[in-house]
Amino acid sequence: MINLVLFGPPGAGKGTQAIYLAQTFNLVHLSTGDLLRQEIAAKTDLGRIADEIISKGELVPDSIVISMIEAKLKSPKTTVGFIFDGFPRTVNQAHALDQLLRKHHSKVSVMLCLEVDKKELIDRLLKRGLTSGRCDDANEATIENRINVYNEKTAPLIHYYESQGKYHPIHGIGEIEEIAARLKETVENL
Ligand code: AMP
Repeated sequence: MINLVLFGPPGAGKGTQAIYLAQTFNLVHLSTGDLLRQEIAAKTDLGRIADEIISKGELVPDSIVISMIEAKLKSPKTTVGFIFDGFPRTVNQAHALDQLLRKHHSKVSVMLCLEVDKKELIDRLLKRGLTSGRCDDANEATIENRINVYNEKTAPLIHYYESQGKYHPIHGIGEIEEIAARLKETVENL
């Protein structure tokens, strides 16, 4: 099995590139952001809780996102592997993912980290906010908070994967196809 963790700050292009990587390597794409937005759209109790947290730019509790991923990994679909997009976002989530994959006799193969500077991230997210309809893209204060939360709670995962020799930084600026080619090459060279 090949399990990719697609990593990077908000606005780095994880969603776009995850779809491409999933198609290229025939992987199942799991995005906790998408799963949470589905709950919000379906107006479930979980969706109501998530909506409030997401609109502030904070992280949804680990227990919620870990359960979501656990449920997806349990479903009997056979696959050559998964691409995790926006998960894990805390060290606790990374430990949980390792445990869940171990149950399936598997592990994280590589962590691909899209690197984009802060100014470009803010520009991209404000632009996306004009059409995405996402409340968390709507104003600069929320975007700033998401980047701060990333730096404080999510960026420490770089060290977590680096210490396992799995961290691969990828230059995340340029044409979408160019970045996709960089990612593809890195995975092919594994
Ligand atoms: P994304 O679509 O990955 O940018 O996620 C949108 C929002 O959903 C994030 O800003 C968080 O509030 C929440 N979220 C998504 N994935 C996670 C996660 N793994 N842990 C905690 N919160 C998450």
